[in-house]
Amino acid sequence: GRFLRHLNKSDGLQANEFGYETFAQSKYSGQLYFGGNNGFNIINPANVPIDTCPPNVQISEILLLTGNKMVSQLDVVAANGMLPIKPFQKVLTVRFAGLDFESPLRNQFSCKLEGFDDDWRMLGTKDEITYTNLDPGDYVLQVKSSNKDGIWSRVPATMAITVYPPWWETWWAWILYTLLIAAVVVSIYQYQLSHQRAQAEAQKIRELDKMKSRLYTNITHEFRTPLTVITAMSDLIEKPEKSKELIQRNADSLLRLVNQLLDLSKVESGHLKLNMIQADVVPFVQYLTESFNSYAANKNINLVTYMESEVLIMDFDEYKLHSIISNLLSNAVKFTPEGGKIILHLKEVAGKMVIKVKDTGIGIPEDKLPLIFDQFYQVDDSSTRKGEGTGIGLTLTKELIELMKGTITVKSQPGGGTEFKVALPITREARLGEITKVQISPNLPPPDKMEEADFSLNAKLPILLLIEDNADVATYLQIWLKGKYEVLHARNGALGIKMAKEVIPDVVITDVMMPEKDGFEVCRTLKNDETTSHVPIIVLTAKTDDASRIEGLERGADAYLSKPFIKKELLVRLQSLIDLRKKLQARYSQPQSVDSGQVASLEDQFLQKVLEAIDKNLSDTDFSNANLASLLHLSESQLFRKLKALTGKSTAIYIRSYRLAKGKELLEKTSLTVSEIAYEVGFSDPAYFSRTFSSEFGLSPNAIRK
Ligand code: ADP
Repeated sequence: GRFLRHLNKSDGLQANEFGYETFAQSKYSGQLYFGGNNGFNIINPANVPIDTCPPNVQISEILLLTGNKMVSQLDVVAANGMLPIKPFQKVLTVRFAGLDFESPLRNQFSCKLEGFDDDWRMLGTKDEITYTNLDPGDYVLQVKSSNKDGIWSRVPATMAITVYPPWWETWWAWILYTLLIAAVVVSIYQYQLSHQRAQAEAQKIRELDKMKSRLYTNITHEFRTPLTVITAMSDLIEKPEKSKELIQRNADSLLRLVNQLLDLSKVESGHLKLNMIQADVVPFVQYLTESFNSYAANKNINLVTYMESEVLIMDFDEYKLHSIISNLLSNAVKFTPEGGKIILHLKEVAGKMVIKVKDTGIGIPEDKLPLIFDQFYQVDDSSTRKGEGTGIGLTLTKELIELMKGTITVKSQPGGGTEFKVALPITREARLGEITKVQISPNLPPPDKMEEADFSLNAKLPILLLIEDNADVATYLQIWLKGKYEVLHARNGALGIKMAKEVIPDVVITDVMMPEKDGFEVCRTLKNDETTSHVPIIVLTAKTDDASRIEGLERGADAYLSKPFIKKELLVRLQSLIDLRKKLQARYSQPQSVDSGQVASLEDQFLQKVLEAIDKNLSDTDFSNANLASLLHLSESQLFRKLKALTGKSTAIYIRSYRLAKGKELLEKTSLTVSEIAYEVGFSDPAYFSRTFSSEFGLSPNAIRK
């Protein structure tokens, strides 16, 4: 064939440059002639020697960037049969040598990195190659070389190279990634699933809750209306009192329950709002407790309050505080057997109002304690249990307390009583308010507004003077007694005495502990006063010891009631005192002189004085009520009330009775004519004397004479 040969000066050319178009070929010998700078060359192509032996090639050096130096890897390759490259070894330089030494500078090289190069790279006479940033993978480097005559080696030199990936690209890293992703996917899926489930659950609960709430609200509202009507209408029932009371009591307790349910559903749905006023909480709590007196007394339980603060101005919600205290107190009464004691204790501790309700009742087992605030929970839910109830009370109580940002705790021992402790934070931000005395407690009708003492008295009802410094007690006593007595109220002993003398009531109820003059003093004063000596007095006291009881009786009290007292007992006492007075009236109704030798009672002495005064003016036809009253240093109305109380007769009738009695005496003992006698005993008209005489004694004056 044909091939191309490069010749240069080293091959014997005159220079490396030749002239343009200075060449020729001999037609005979085929020799070639070339002219140049330094002469010419004659070349016989047949004589030009050609090196046809392909050269061998060898890799002479392998350098790898390690740290910041190029380090030889020949040993490594010799040991492993390949070149391992770690990640980060970014620069690889390979040097090679062609093993043709005829004209080594004209050796050429070519290489191909399999896995990286697509084709052979011609390197010319450069005997090295540098690769940078090889991707992880397996490669084979092939190197060829040619001799000066362009004859290429047949067998290339080869070297295997493996570029290792960094750890995060290794297979196990990938497995890890896969596992991680799988785990994440699975957990997201599971989370969503459970979230969905929880949401569905929550939705269901919300719906149930809403339904419950609606049910509560609707039904309880529906209950409330008829109950209110029943309560109101039962007021109109007059007889029998007993059944009316039963209706009212039951309607009240139902209404209370309904209200509790309503409140509870409102708290739970977050609709119950606080309605705070700023006021003195002490009298409010006192009043609430007092309203439980009768309830406790019914069971012969002693209900005592200890108010450690005299005044405690703070924000509170009357209705809710009422509900809380009522619940605790009614539980205490309910779960305390007869003869027990309940103490309500109020004090201020570190910015909190602390109310303790302690009873000597049946107590609660320790393991049940955490449960009692649960809705509908009752420690004893057997059908034979002592107290009735629903298990709502404490739930509501706790919710209300928490609404007020307070706390409730309980201490108890079976058989050793129970103590509930409520702590409410004291704030003073609400508007100043008046306590309206909400009324939801059991067994007690709502007190009306305090009635002002009213002197235009209803003459048909007995007049009762109530001397009591506690307005609340006075209020409910007034309500209890309304319709049975005309109640006058005096705020303290001194005022009471003054009013008693002025009005001469039919009966006096007085408290013992009072400012100015105490109840004993009231007793002594009234009993030693001519005008009021006859008035029966009931003494009320919280002191129950015998000494004070005896003191009260010694001072002339007619009856003694210890607080808390029962309405019924009070009414019975009042009635019996009034009955007693009727007996007195029977005794005094006929005017007659008493033996002055006897140790006469004040009443006897008084009547004696009255009779003497009338006697002295017996024949004075003009002698009037007013004359008699002034002789006795009394007002006309005082005299009237005193005489009426003692004798059941008005002043005029009593005077007339005395005149008639005297007339009868004269008819029997003298021989005066009826007319003479009539004038003698102060009648200006004898016919009138005869008429009244007949109606008084059932006999005419003439009939007596016969
Ligand atoms: P109710 O009184 O309507 O049953 P509560 O929620 O008011 O419901 O009370 C739950 C339970 O806690 C009561 O049934 C009773 O067993 C117990 N308990 C509450 N107060 C007392 C107390 N002072 N003494 C003993 N047990 C009580």
